[in-house]
Amino acid sequence: MINKTPSPLYSGVKILHDPVRNKGTAFTDAERDALNLRGLLPPRVHSMAEQELRVLGNIRAKPTDLERYLYLVALQDRNENLFYRVVMNNIEEMMPLIYTPTVGKACQEFQHIFRQSRGFYVSLQDKGRIKEMMQNWPHKNARIIVVTDGERILGLGDLGADGMGIAIGKLALYTACAGICPTRCLPVMLDVGTNNEALLNDPLYNGLERRRERGEEYDALFAEFLEAATEVFPGMLIQLEDFGNTNAFRLLEQYRSTYCLFDDDIQGTGAVAVAGIIAAMRIMRSNLSDQKILFLGAGEAGIGVADVFVAALKEGGISEKEARQHCWFVDSKGLLVAGRDRIEPHKKPYAHEHEYIPDLLGAINALQPTAILGLSGQPGTFTQDVVETMAKINERPIIFALSNPTSKAECTAEQAYTWSDGRAIFASGSPFDPVKLGNQTFVPGQGNNAYIFPGVGLGVIVSRSRVVTDEMFLAAAHSLANQVTESDLERGRVYPALAQIRQVSALIAHDVAKMAYDNGLTDREKPDDILADIHENMYQPVYPHYA
Ligand code: NAD
Repeated sequence: MINKTPSPLYSGVKILHDPVRNKGTAFTDAERDALNLRGLLPPRVHSMAEQELRVLGNIRAKPTDLERYLYLVALQDRNENLFYRVVMNNIEEMMPLIYTPTVGKACQEFQHIFRQSRGFYVSLQDKGRIKEMMQNWPHKNARIIVVTDGERILGLGDLGADGMGIAIGKLALYTACAGICPTRCLPVMLDVGTNNEALLNDPLYNGLERRRERGEEYDALFAEFLEAATEVFPGMLIQLEDFGNTNAFRLLEQYRSTYCLFDDDIQGTGAVAVAGIIAAMRIMRSNLSDQKILFLGAGEAGIGVADVFVAALKEGGISEKEARQHCWFVDSKGLLVAGRDRIEPHKKPYAHEHEYIPDLLGAINALQPTAILGLSGQPGTFTQDVVETMAKINERPIIFALSNPTSKAECTAEQAYTWSDGRAIFASGSPFDPVKLGNQTFVPGQGNNAYIFPGVGLGVIVSRSRVVTDEMFLAAAHSLANQVTESDLERGRVYPALAQIRQVSALIAHDVAKMAYDNGLTDREKPDDILADIHENMYQPVYPHYA
């Protein structure tokens, strides 16, 4: 079982300062006697529901989202079960606070808002002793690491050690969205320096005061970290998060077959975007093989989506070579075409024969795509001309502005719907409010990998799969798309409501785990009922009884 009741190792004030065991005013009379808590708490015993009400009141009274974030982090530090109850019961309200967009702001301010350390820091200075250090982590049952080196946090660039906030936020979603017990989650910051001048000049910055290491020393530190993490925590699943794209592609290729490891920005984003496109086919009454996608941005996310899309076409019987012709890219240098100067290895399979075109609008006019996907981190690049042209070419243009946080979205939901006369099938990486156009209200879906990685992670750790495969991400994409209802589609939403996220994640976990059992990726015996086994392993935010 993942959700274990912790035993009261100690009593009195110590238990009140332990976020895993603390119940605050919810300790019962009997527990107060048994655990030497008499006098340390006000006399009234509150239920967890009453505590939740108090927390919600406090959060809603805060003047800014960053203040709300700080309140929630403080709650997580003092009473984890209550924190997760509040987040899970109010996921649509809380997710933008603990994750994108607010977590982006929090990372940008991290050195100033820092109160208490959370997560695990490994720096270049720790070479040779990482294994020994990892023994310091208090939860010996940790099974998922989200590790970042802070080089490309959301679309915000190099935030160095301040990127820790993103690893913490992602792991909170593993628990909230897929029920992975909080003590199983280990956020790691690999501090290899930063090239962010403002941080280097800020006396409050918490990371190493040096520029980014790139060479052999970086590789040696990463290798030592992987080895240490998997020796100290056997079977550990490692998620690479927000690495710069050169390292992300390289490290994923190097280690994906020898460690249980994946890159969320490449593979998770791929699955979520393709799920949205599969669901859009039901609105368009069309097929994947009839789609031509033009990506803005050819980094981790863009290439990751194209790779999953190609895998989906191959599944439908199309050759890899032909499938790639369905994906075109415009990056910072214009249309990606064969013969362009210095094409990076990850872009090469998508550099097709075509005349060079310098800009997105020109590329749309020349290629006549059915979909444009923004993964460039460049706000405002889906201009009125771009959206209007897409709407002229297509009855129902797919327009996904997937860059995070909200401030980096290629266009807003309102712009996409207004400029296309309500015909765009729109999704965004960060949330947008519903848009009213005439008598119609459009509810934009959130094409965020939060729909994918928690379920994939749950499936992998419950099945004890030794590796994470591309097929698992394609399966997750289908699973997610299958859960989009007709009523979602009627409202213009190509993703299920966030309120359904635990059920969505459980079904994705089922499909991923089944793949591990059926393909011999695990030594664990296949349970009779995989879904029941998944549910049994999901954490619930309830208090343990101590007396
Ligand atoms: P990256 O740095 O690997 O790639 C960025 C790409 O954008 C590069 O190919 C670059 O050439 C291109 N680019 C930069 N400026 C451009 C311009 N003016 N015009 C055209 N292209 C331009 O970054 P990434 O990991 O691919 O992430 C990109 C964005 O996608 C970020 O904002 C990130 O937050 C977002 N993202 C969203 C999700 C999601 O779930 N919705 C997941 C991952 C990443």
